[in-house]
Amino acid sequence: MLALEMFRSIPRFAAAKVSGGRMPGLLVGPMAPLRLVTRDEPAVRRPGWAQVRPLLSGICGSDLGAITGQTSLYFSALVSMPFVPGHEIVGELAQDCEDLPRGTRVVVDPVLACAARGVEPCEPCRTGRTNLCNHVTVGHLSPGLQTGFCQDTGGGWGERLTVHRSQLHVVPDALSDERAVLVEPLACAVQLARRAQVPAGGSVLVSGAGAVGLFAVLALRELTDAGRITVIAKHGRQAELARAFGASDVAAPDEAMRAVRRTTRALRVAPQGLPAPAARLSSASEMLLGGVDVAIDAVGSTSSLDTVLRSTKAGGRVVLSGMPAGADLSPAWFRELEVAGTYASAGDAFEVAIGLAGRAPMDGVVGGRYPLHRWREALDHAQSAGRLGAVKVCFDVRSRA
Ligand SMILES: [Zn+2]
Repeated sequence: MLALEMFRSIPRFAAAKVSGGRMPGLLVGPMAPLRLVTRDEPAVRRPGWAQVRPLLSGICGSDLGAITGQTSLYFSALVSMPFVPGHEIVGELAQDCEDLPRGTRVVVDPVLACAARGVEPCEPCRTGRTNLCNHVTVGHLSPGLQTGFCQDTGGGWGERLTVHRSQLHVVPDALSDERAVLVEPLACAVQLARRAQVPAGGSVLVSGAGAVGLFAVLALRELTDAGRITVIAKHGRQAELARAFGASDVAAPDEAMRAVRRTTRALRVAPQGLPAPAARLSSASEMLLGGVDVAIDAVGSTSSLDTVLRSTKAGGRVVLSGMPAGADLSPAWFRELEVAGTYASAGDAFEVAIGLAGRAPMDGVVGGRYPLHRWREALDHAQSAGRLGAVKVCFDVRSRA
């Protein structure tokens, strides 16, 4: 079968880390630690496992982070190389899988928790928090926190992967492939909305209007009684979609602090003693006394995290969605903020997400579809998605065009 494979290459990893992000053309150049290969179909010959033929597979920010070397070394122990990336998957069962007949259209919960690994359930799994499984490196599978990061299972960026019954959710006939491929990121947004613990009528700031931020707005409107939701968006199309998904206001990054100050009647404080050029540049070093009840970092950059930390009111909550970069944590201390992570999803999040994918105004959210062999174009498009007016870029795995 044909698949994209991520391999370990320290020199390439280092080069990608230096160049990734700043020079997007280079991330898919000759130094990228990704290649198109012909390899054996993955097979796990144990009860409950079956092959899936992917139809569409999304490209996630975490995939780009891994390829460009932006991902924290923390994760290196939680993956097994080489692996086929791709964890946002709609596909068809290529074999019967317990109660599900061959041909059933499915979406995949990528977390490889105790049930999939064939080990006694750990404490998080026993209590339904499979996203927090302690056993993602043990059992009969190689290490891998998710499908798409484990060498034994394959991933969505290949013509076949293998999945465990516990990972599968059936796609209703009425849900198109283009909407179904959004179910996994929507399930993460459902988890995010639950972790946000927004008080009734509470104000929320969402920093970032890529797929994570936009889907966060949808899920917050679906699952919470949030009052005003302010979204920080860089690009026009993102601002439009944020409003369509339920945002009350949208602000550009350099106006975000002012927008929050105005809507929450907070007091703005600027740092002292900076030379004039630095003071002008460092809008992120302003801070508010007062601010939103809950702020969500949906970017994972230092400036985004600084902005959310500095715009949250005393005793408020900051939610980290995506892999966070470092930031100045002084506000967390001084304002007694609660800093909460949100990772993948658990419980009934996939069922809620399937409902959302069917109801929400999702037309046009998939802004690009590429065959596997055009992976360089696909990743380039995904890296620049916001600027190019796309929310999600996908591989059309069956296409050879
Ligand atoms: Zn577990």
